[in-house]
Amino acid sequence: MSAKRIEDAIGPCAATRCIEAALVSGKLSHAYLVLGRDDGAKLALATALAKAGNCTGEHLPGQYCDACASCRQIQAGGSPNMRVFGDGTKLDINAVDQFIAYACIKTAPGSLRLSVFRGVDFFTDVAADRVLSTLEEPVAGNVFLLLSRNSRRVLPTIRSRAQVVKVESDAGADAGQTGRQQQDEDAALDILLNYAKANLSLGDASGRLLRMDAAVSRRENAMEALRSIAVFMEGVLRARGKLPPLAHVSLDIEPELARVNFVLDDSRVIPFLDRLGDRVQHVEQNVNAELVVTNALLELRRMTTDE
Ligand SMILES: [Zn+2]
Repeated sequence: MSAKRIEDAIGPCAATRCIEAALVSGKLSHAYLVLGRDDGAKLALATALAKAGNCTGEHLPGQYCDACASCRQIQAGGSPNMRVFGDGTKLDINAVDQFIAYACIKTAPGSLRLSVFRGVDFFTDVAADRVLSTLEEPVAGNVFLLLSRNSRRVLPTIRSRAQVVKVESDAGADAGQTGRQQQDEDAALDILLNYAKANLSLGDASGRLLRMDAAVSRRENAMEALRSIAVFMEGVLRARGKLPPLAHVSLDIEPELARVNFVLDDSRVIPFLDRLGDRVQHVEQNVNAELVVTNALLELRRMTTDE
C-alpha cells in the first residue's frame, strides 16, 4: 500500500510544505489562515489535513492511507472530525455561532478535529469578537482553518491569532500571489469608480471586469468582479460615514468615493448588497456570467441617480 502526502491533494505549495512539516514535528498550530483564490484547493487541503490527523491505517507521520474508515468518512463529508462552515460569499452570523459551538466540543483522545470556516474576509467586528475567544483558548485537539481569498480584508485581530499559509495553484508564484490579488482588486475598484462617474460605459466596464485576470475563467473573473462591487459599495458607505471606518481597510479610492453622487438609502443599499451575494452564487451555478455582472452594474448605476 502507499500512503498519501498532504501535497498529493493540491500539489506542492507554501501551505502544504508548512502543514506537512508541522504534522511531522507534531507542532501543528491551532489556527491557520489559509489564503488563496482557489476555494476548491483550500478545501482539499483541509480534507487532507483532517485525514492525516485521524488516519488509523498504515502511514508515516504527516501522511494518510486514504483507505481506512476514518479517511473514507472524511472524504464522504460525514466525519465528526471535520466540518465546514460559511459559504464563502457573504457573512452568515448563524454559521459563525455553529462554528464556535462545534469548536468547543472536546475531542476523543488522539483525534484531531478540524473546524473550517469559508469566507473569513466577510467577518465583521461583531463576528470576529465572537470567534476570538475561541481562537485564543482552543479546546485541546481542535484546529481551525480559516479560509480567505484576500488577506487585506481579514480583520487584524483574526490575522494576528492565526498562522498565515498560502495555497497557490501555480507552484512558481510563491510571493506574488497575494500582491497580485490586491492589485486585481485595486484595478477592479478603479474600473467601478470610473463607471460610477460615467467615465466608462456599461459594456466597457463589464468587458474589463470579465477579463481582469487572463489566467482564470470568465466565471471566476465574474465572481471576483461581484465581490469587488461589494467592496466598492462598502467603501462608498464608509466614505460617507454610513459605516464605521475600519482601520485596516483603507481603499486608495476612498477620498474619490466620497465625491461620487450616490443615493445611499438603506432600503436600496442593503437589498443591493444581499443580491450581490446571490449573484455570486448564480455565477457559481453557471448562470451566464456576463449577464449577471451586467445586471449588477446596471443596478449600481441606478443608485447614482435620484430616481
Ligand atoms: Zn487512513
